[in-house]
Amino acid sequence: MRAITVLPGIANSARLDDVPEPPLSDGAILVRTRALGVCATDREILMGAYGTAPSGQGRLVLGHESLGTVETAPADCEVAPGDLVVGIVRRPDPQPCPACAVGEWDMCRNGRYVERGIKERNGYGAERFRIEPDFAVKIDPALGILGVLTEPASVVAKAWDHIERIGARARGWGPRRLLVTGAGPIGLLAALLGVQRGLETHVLDHNESGPKPALVRALGATYHTDAADLKALQPNILIECTGAPAVIRDILGHTAPAGITCLAGVTSPGHVLDLDIGLFNRTMVLDNDTVFGTVNANHRHFELAAEALARADKTWLAGLITRRVPVERWQEALQHRPGDIKVVIDFAA
Ligand SMILES: [Zn+2]
Repeated sequence: MRAITVLPGIANSARLDDVPEPPLSDGAILVRTRALGVCATDREILMGAYGTAPSGQGRLVLGHESLGTVETAPADCEVAPGDLVVGIVRRPDPQPCPACAVGEWDMCRNGRYVERGIKERNGYGAERFRIEPDFAVKIDPALGILGVLTEPASVVAKAWDHIERIGARARGWGPRRLLVTGAGPIGLLAALLGVQRGLETHVLDHNESGPKPALVRALGATYHTDAADLKALQPNILIECTGAPAVIRDILGHTAPAGITCLAGVTSPGHVLDLDIGLFNRTMVLDNDTVFGTVNANHRHFELAAEALARADKTWLAGLITRRVPVERWQEALQHRPGDIKVVIDFAA
């Protein structure tokens, strides 16, 4: 069968390969791939900057944002042939740390987890994949190809889950206003989940054209391109999705009192910027503010993501998928083009 494979650590080594059928050891459920979402992590792996092949194998099957149709499944599992499913990305470490031992592998303490398509386990970028029943998430069939947004939405669902757990530290916490910085797939999905919670939602992004402003407005949210607008906004919740050092400097300490700032974008080290630590610390302490980071998602977050997408307007979600590329032209999906939000490789085309 065809699969997109890469030699981890070697730039531009990816190719559309002919590989054996997925082994039974990958899981009892056989899935026919329908679509594969592409993100910055995939581009990093293609550049040779990230990723590890399974032990004893040179090449890694790429892809962690999956969507497929179940071909065969054991009779006693929650999915049946014909169901749409998404595969969870991370697997707990073999000798589970306290977090992995309770199914919270997104909070793994020792970094020995593995990840499909990223770290030591083949990914979902093949015509067929196998998966363990505990790691397959059933998707509302009405979503169709939009189900491919489940993995990015799971990262957002985790961010919201943790925001609400932090908020619950104080009785009477009632957030009203949300600011999301960055209108990529993660930022837009974070805004969607904020609107679903009834919050007055604001989104900051540097793009003045392209599809992002209209997508934000279609949610009933306010689109900003000038960070200076934000000083007076005083959001109760701030979700930072740009990973841009200057944006992070500008937003830290600018929530309403008891504000929660969630950092969800990854930055490379080496950006030294001026920040008034005295003012920042004083604000954090006197206002009971919180800043926290979040990554990845566990089973519960994938379920929350699938529910959030099932409740969302399908036309709006469809606007997030700005290009669908047939698998034969997979390379085009990994090129960044103006106006791209989520690009999807279509295995069914
Ligand atoms: Zn662990």
